[in-house]
Amino acid sequence: MKLKVCVIGGAGYIGSHTVYELIRDGHEVVIIDNLSTGSRDFIHKDAKFYFGDITNKQELKNIFNIECSVKPFDVVMHFAAKLIVPESVSIPLEYYYNNVEGVRIMLEVMKDFNIKNVVFSSTAAVYGEAINPICSENDPTIPINPYGETKLASEKLIKWVCQRYDMNYCIFRYFNVAGAIDTLEIGLNKDNLTHIIPITVQTALGIRDEMTIFGNDYDTPDGTCIRDYIHVSDLADAHVLGAKYLVKNNKSLLVNLGSNKGYSVLEIIKEVEKFYPVNYKIGKRRAGDPAKLIASNDKAKEILGWLPKRNLEQIIKSDIEYRKKLNNLK
Ligand code: UDP
Repeated sequence: MKLKVCVIGGAGYIGSHTVYELIRDGHEVVIIDNLSTGSRDFIHKDAKFYFGDITNKQELKNIFNIECSVKPFDVVMHFAAKLIVPESVSIPLEYYYNNVEGVRIMLEVMKDFNIKNVVFSSTAAVYGEAINPICSENDPTIPINPYGETKLASEKLIKWVCQRYDMNYCIFRYFNVAGAIDTLEIGLNKDNLTHIIPITVQTALGIRDEMTIFGNDYDTPDGTCIRDYIHVSDLADAHVLGAKYLVKNNKSLLVNLGSNKGYSVLEIIKEVEKFYPVNYKIGKRRAGDPAKLIASNDKAKEILGWLPKRNLEQIIKSDIEYRKKLNNLK
C-alpha cells in the first residue's frame, strides 16, 4: 500500500523521523512546516516541502489546493505543536492558540478537501497524575499543565469532528521520546533543550558544566520523577503502522506509545554514567511535573502489532552518538 501523506511539522524532531520512516517504507510525503523549531536540514531530500503555518488557514488551503488537485492526501499527520511543559505554564495563551487553534484549522481544511484520515501526536501529559501505576488508555484524563490540556482539548476536537464528518483518527499518546535515527542524519538539535536525556548527555559530554535534578521529594522510591522512555525511531514506526491502519480499516483508534517500564531521573543519570560521569545537583521541583508516568503498550501491540525495539541503554547510546557527531567529539 503506497500512501500520500501530508506531514505537518515534518521538519521537527519526531516529524522528521516519521518522514524518514514513511519514505523508507515507500510512501509519498509532503511536509508543511513553519520552521519555528524544525530545521531545513531535517527535511528528507525525497519529501516535498512547503513553508507554511497551520494557524494560517489560507496558507494551508493554498497548499492543499496544489497538492490535492494532483492526488488527494490519504492521511494527514500532525506534529506541529509546542511541547515544553514549563513553557506552557508560562505562556498558556500561545500554547492554546498554536496547539488547539492549529488543529481546528487543520481539521477544517481536511473537511473542505474531503481528506478522511488524521494521525495525531498526543501525550502522556493528558493523564496528569496517573491513578494507576501503569496508565492505560481508559484511565481518567486530568492534565496538570497547559500543555496536557491543549492536547486533551485537541483530542476531543478531533473525535467530534471525525464523528461528524465521517473521518478517522489515530491518536498516539506519547511518553518520553529520545534518541536519533541509526544513521545519525537527524536527531534532537535545538538551542534550548529541556528534556532530561539530552541534558544529561550534554552534561556527560562536557557540553554543559552541570545539570539540576528538579526535585527529589516526590512520592517515588528515590524521590525523583519517573517517566517511560521511547526511542524516536520506534515512535516513527508506530506512525507508519497507524497511517496504514486507518486506510485499511476505515476505523479510528487511540493508543499509548510507551514501554511498560519507568525510570527515575536518577536512574537516567546512572545509566548515562555507565558511559561518562555526570555533574549534577539537586534543585527545586519544576512547575507542572507529575511524579510518575508509565504507559501500558498492550493496546498498541494488540491493534497495530507495535512494540518498542530499543531499550533505555540503546536510547541513551543513540543520544550520545548523535550529540558527539553534532559537536565533533570523538
Ligand atoms: N528533569 C530534570 N532536570 C532537567 C530536565 C528534566 O530533573 O534538567 C526532570 C523533569 O523535572 C521531569 C523529568 O526529568 O521530572 C522528565 O522531564 P522532561 O522535560 O524530559 O520530559 P516531560 O516528562 O516533562 O515531558
